[in-house]
Amino acid sequence: MQVYFDNSATTKPCEAAVKSALEVMTEEYGNPSSLHIKGFSASKILESSRGVIAKSLFCEPDCIYFTPCGTVSNNTAVFGAANLMKRRGKKIVTTAIEHPSVSACMDKLSSEGFEVVRVSPDKNGEIALEKFEDEIDGDTILVSLMAVNNETGAVLPFDKIKKIITKKKSPALLHVDAVQGYMKINIKPERCGVDLMSVSAHKVHALKGAGALYIAKGVKIKPHILGGGQEGNICSGTQAMPNIAAFSAAVKELGNDERRAEKVRELNEYIRRELMKIEGVCINSPKSACDYILNISLKGIPSQVSVNYFSQKGIYVSAGSACSKGHRSDALVSMGLPSERIDSAVRISFCPQNTKDEADYFINSVKTAFSELSKK
Ligand code: PLP
Repeated sequence: MQVYFDNSATTKPCEAAVKSALEVMTEEYGNPSSLHIKGFSASKILESSRGVIAKSLFCEPDCIYFTPCGTVSNNTAVFGAANLMKRRGKKIVTTAIEHPSVSACMDKLSSEGFEVVRVSPDKNGEIALEKFEDEIDGDTILVSLMAVNNETGAVLPFDKIKKIITKKKSPALLHVDAVQGYMKINIKPERCGVDLMSVSAHKVHALKGAGALYIAKGVKIKPHILGGGQEGNICSGTQAMPNIAAFSAAVKELGNDERRAEKVRELNEYIRRELMKIEGVCINSPKSACDYILNISLKGIPSQVSVNYFSQKGIYVSAGSACSKGHRSDALVSMGLPSERIDSAVRISFCPQNTKDEADYFINSVKTAFSELSKK
């Protein structure tokens, strides 16, 4: 049996995505900036894809800018906002559990003289709104936080931050890295006053090589990537049309599965319940976490040993975050968990196609992991 429980690292592209990409590669291969018929048809596909992504984020198409991935969306948003706003202040408020595509930008901004404040989660992995309230002030020019943490699934209060910014009379722009929350939890950037929001295609059953940045109407950022001025000069470079078409096809298809959230919730609840019966298993994800991610520790078994053991059984999971090979989980460290628990952590992450049979096979393999690996 093959069980893919690493959907937060990347997802299997759906058939509709693959079909769309192939069609664009073989038939509609024009450059959307070209001024001839092939160019016009590519441009039509580009704009209809923009419309689909906009609809999924409940906004107008002209708020969506295509990028090559979530990382580029995050870099564009963070550097673009900080560089535009630097005359108005130096303070940036973010969290200690951001993905490296935000935290590395913060390191760089900090080395350039910005005052970067990183709020930490509590021992459950949650970050209370008050922590942001304590830090956001009149000098804050940017607040950047993720919607859903990629390691624990913790949901951050991104939808309530704008009220604080307004209350504190802060000029800050609000950026949300929604790469792990998009199409999984309720995300409506316009309604909650988000200025900039990053999403990525390969986390939603499309292909690697496309992402998008939402920019609220009237919000300006300084372009970070310079070139031919594509995507409203926000992200220059010829658009990766097969990937963009696949992105749109996958989002459309996922949107049609109205029961997806329920299916994943049932699966997560079942696995949590069964795992809690096994001696030596600790659940690291908060109770309120997004159902798509479950972080657990298997007492006495180093993370990489578990990952290899499961992999040999055809079960694919992650040790912490797949983007930070061999690196200790920032989220678990900043939660203050004991090192034995951090070093034995495994992240399992789901999609609506995962089944109860797969869950049973995984649960059984956790039991055999304890009996077989502790013998050695
Ligand atoms: N942000 C978060 C929260 C992520 O989990 C990831 C990838 O895992 C990214 C950003 C980067 O996205 P991409 O892989 O599309 O560059």
